[in-house]
This record gives sequence, structure tokens and C-alpha cells, in this order.
Amino acid sequence: MLAALAAYQRGFAGRRAQICYAMKANSSLAVLQVFAQAGCGFDIVSGGELERALAAGAKGTDIIFSGVGKTRAEIRRALEVGIGCFNVESEAELEVLSEVAVAVGKTAHVSIRVNPDVDPKTHPYISTGLKGNKFGVPHERALHAYQRAAALPGLKVIGIDCHIGSQITDEAPYLDAMERVLDLVTAVEATGIPVHHIDFGGGLGIDYDGTVPPAADGLWRKLLARLDARGFGDRLLMIEPGRSLVGNAGVCISEVLYLKPGEHKNFCVIDAAMNDLPRPAMYQAYHAIAALKRGASHASATYDVVGPVCESGDWIGRDRALGVQAGDLLAVMSAGAYCMSMASNYNTRGRAAEVLVDGSQVHLIRERETTADQMRLERLL
Ligand SMILES: *Cc1c(COP(=O)(O)O)cnc(C)c1O
Repeated sequence: MLAALAAYQRGFAGRRAQICYAMKANSSLAVLQVFAQAGCGFDIVSGGELERALAAGAKGTDIIFSGVGKTRAEIRRALEVGIGCFNVESEAELEVLSEVAVAVGKTAHVSIRVNPDVDPKTHPYISTGLKGNKFGVPHERALHAYQRAAALPGLKVIGIDCHIGSQITDEAPYLDAMERVLDLVTAVEATGIPVHHIDFGGGLGIDYDGTVPPAADGLWRKLLARLDARGFGDRLLMIEPGRSLVGNAGVCISEVLYLKPGEHKNFCVIDAAMNDLPRPAMYQAYHAIAALKRGASHASATYDVVGPVCESGDWIGRDRALGVQAGDLLAVMSAGAYCMSMASNYNTRGRAAEVLVDGSQVHLIRERETTADQMRLERLL
């Protein structure tokens, strides 16, 4: 985690920059604490994430609030703790934000998330900067939204924001989005509205399957050169990386329960499932799976690695060559992002324990969830 962060920090050395960890990737308190202590701010998408960031030691001013559906209660609470910026995603949200800010007697700092309409060339469920997506204000409406924001009481425009998608493994979409955003900054400032910070979002991919995304420092060298060339190099720069800070730092350890040979397929049934690792079921995502051998190795065969959940969508890996038998342990790799934070209790399965390893130190950072934990909020008739 800290090595991944250091790549961004190297990339921004000597610049005015703030790295806001997009905590939905992994919002466990101790993970947030590590990033808070390393100087990160946080990008949140709910009131719940706001409370987590504060509980982990973040200052209100180091928090920025993204998302298309902020409620009045969430906005009120965020104003109360003095968050750094609201990344506003629609003109309707501007009106509500203004109303709430005036009602509580605070000024809301605003950045408008613009949708630059560039194709990040990633899975359709995790591309967010295309015209058909629900995210952001369309590029051609952005100027109008800025003028509205500048005119509304209780709001102060401070920045611009974009986030084009996730698991991006190519640098071209970033360069394209940057050009489009800088065009807008020029247009907005020409109307007399200063744009103090430029936020380029998150989205940088990680290595799941041997496809190696650009390194954060190298990518930012190129982006900063472009920014300098266009005369915006002295602005406060912000980014919102999530996956790239935590994804490759986590593994999910699971035990082989049964080998189930079949006519068409062999199944390796493990004790982790789609409730623990939802990415394959949601996005057909690939996670490498490694057998953790103790003692003799077993004959290798090709398996679909599946969990116990009663859904055909409950698979973790397809057609994997593994030499395992019941009782062996497997590591599902690159499980640090969008796994625990997406985990559910489907099939009344308790969520896993989480362990943070720091050199030779091992910390239990989340206890294994019990069935009593799961039933705590329920009532019999
Ligand atoms: C999810 C999200 C991010 C982080 O995306 P990653 O692909 O995990 O880096 C950043 N900004 C916003 C607004 C997001 O919704």
C-alpha cells in the first residue's frame, strides 16, 4: 500500500498536489488509518464513508465528497464537519447543496465533475466518463453549470473534477481527458470564475493477469509535462486513486473443501465465495489463484474454482490448472480492492477476518463476523 502510494508521491514531487484515497476500494478503518498517517486525504461517496474517514483520523478539510446521489442529511453532516470540497455531479445537486448550505449558514466548496466523454477502454460497468454514463455533468453543459454554481448563494466554486473509469491500463484516455478538462478550465475562467484546483480522479489499473498498467510516477511525468505545456502546472492538483493503492496488496486465503470431477468440467469448491469476492460475478473479473502448498504436491488438473453460494454466478476462477486436494489452502490474488468493501452476507455467510501485515508485524484489523453479528439488528415478530 505504501509502495503504491510512494509512486504517486514521487510523481507529484515538487508540485502542489493532494492525493485523496478513494476509500470505497477498501474502507477498513486500519487501511484508512495507514493512508491518513501517510498524508492522504480521502474521496468519499456516502455519509457512512465520511464517518469512517473521521474515525480513522482524517481531518474534515482533507475529505472530498463525490457521488451522484448525495442526500440532504449527508450534505448537512459534511458541511458540519467542514469537508474540503463537494464534487457535484448535476445541476439539480447544485440547487440542493445551495439550499442546505444556506439553511445551516455554511459555505459549500464546490468542484463540478465533468464528463469528458472519453472511452477508458475498460469493462462497461466500470467506465464512467462516456456519454451514456450516469456520472458527471456532460461536457457541453459544464459551462452552464459553473455559471449556475457561481450565482447560487452558499456555494463557492473552487475546482473542476473528472473521473473516467476504473482499471484503466492505457495512458491515452488520461491524456485525452486532461485535454478536454483543460479546455473547460480555460472556458470557465474566461467567464470570470477562477478554478483553483484540478482533480483528475482515479482509475489507474493494477496487474491482475499480467497486463501491466502504466506506473503512477511515469504516467504523471507525462501528464504533468502536458499540464505545464498548457500553462496549468502551478495549479493545485488532486487525484482520487482507489484500486491502484490497495488492489495488489491484498490476498484472500481460502480452503479447498471438495474436488468434484465432472464430465465437462472439474470443480474445485472452496470456502470463499461471491459474497467475499464479488468481482468475478459482477464483472467477469479475473483473479489469479495460487495453491499454497504444504508438503507433497498433487497431480495438476483443470478446475473451475467455485464457492458454496447457491448461484451459478458464484465462481472465482475458470479453467485454472491447480495441483490441490481437499484441505489445501489457496490464495486468491489482488483481492485488496473492491472485495472486502463489496462483501455481503448472502447465504448468511459471515464476512472474513482481515489481517494487515507490516513487515514481520501482523495485526488483526477485523474480526471474523459471527452469525450473532449478522442477526443483531433483526427482530422476530
Ligand atoms: C471509484 C472512484 C474513484 C477510484 O477509482 P479507482 O479505479 O479505484 O482508482 C475515484 N473517484 C471517484 C469519483 C470514484 O467514484
